[in-house]
Amino acid sequence: MRRGAITRESVLKAVAEHDELGRDAFLANYGFGEARSYVLVHEGKEYDSKAVAGVAHKWAQGRALAPDEFSGGKDHAAAWLKRAGFQVKAIKNPDWARDEIILACQLVMENGWKGLDAQDSRVVELSALLQLLPIHAEAERNEKFRNPNGVARKTFDIATRHPEYQGKPTNGGALDVAVLHEFLARPEEMTEAARLIRQGIATGELQSLAPTEDEEFDDYSAPEGRLLMRRHRARERNKGLRKKKITSVLQRGGRLACEACGFDFEAVYGDRGAGYIECHHVLPLHVAGEGRTMLSDLALICANCHRMIHRRAPWPTPAELRASIERKHAADRRAAEAIARPRRAADEQMPDP
Ligand SMILES: [Zn+2]
Ligand SMILES: [Zn+2]
Repeated sequence: MRRGAITRESVLKAVAEHDELGRDAFLANYGFGEARSYVLVHEGKEYDSKAVAGVAHKWAQGRALAPDEFSGGKDHAAAWLKRAGFQVKAIKNPDWARDEIILACQLVMENGWKGLDAQDSRVVELSALLQLLPIHAEAERNEKFRNPNGVARKTFDIATRHPEYQGKPTNGGALDVAVLHEFLARPEEMTEAARLIRQGIATGELQSLAPTEDEEFDDYSAPEGRLLMRRHRARERNKGLRKKKITSVLQRGGRLACEACGFDFEAVYGDRGAGYIECHHVLPLHVAGEGRTMLSDLALICANCHRMIHRRAPWPTPAELRASIERKHAADRRAAEAIARPRRAADEQMPDP
């Protein structure tokens, strides 16, 4: 049996079975719970999408899937139902991403760290802007996605987390607090990041950038958010720019070695590594706006050091990373010497066999 190989007919049969049994009996019969993330919308009615997809397997392939055999989300049930031509709707809107909170936080700061009402024109404007951000796929949104009410609520979530706010915080999560603290610690830089996100959306540049593969798993790699990070990645992966940088280094008689650790791909891998090195764009995200990338903005960096730079904010410059590698080496050497010294002394005291 191939998971997900369900046909339109098999889904319609599962829906018919649902209607005949009633929701509770249908769910209980097959061991499913109520849908939490997605519902199937069919002829004006909503159905638990995971249960319907699981039962559709019975009609398509002879056996219903058990709930623990697949997920209800966009990897499995929701995707299969859509592939079969059905409409699937998210029940709950996705959590706010860092970029969205940055824009809301900037507004709250501008408003003297007070929340704003849904009728406020700035909230209405931000709501429209958030709906344009290329972060959450259409399929994950429902009709209330970032509407003025939700945006207004978020501004209060942020405002009531301010250290000087007297009273109970309304709601909000760890990411709200993290972004608020970034704004309190570096107001100019974060305001500039918010401005650059707005500007990049207005020109359409940020909508055209593909997500980077690691952004889901490490949201903290850029306090300025995913969108400016995407632009950073796009610039340093730009083939033409990298080629120009490499050519200019070679023309000046330089080596293609990592500016942080000295790794030289050709020296280690021979021909396979010849001419290879990554580039890291050294301008901080809140500084690098639109406009041309200068070759001097790019540093030669090996893949390992590049990962380490981006791993945690604030990003070290290549020179700072080099200094930390050297400090680590020196400490390791001292530790090795400390171990070797008593051993040598003990060896000398050993009687001859
Ligand atoms: Zn390196
Ligand atoms: Zn980089």
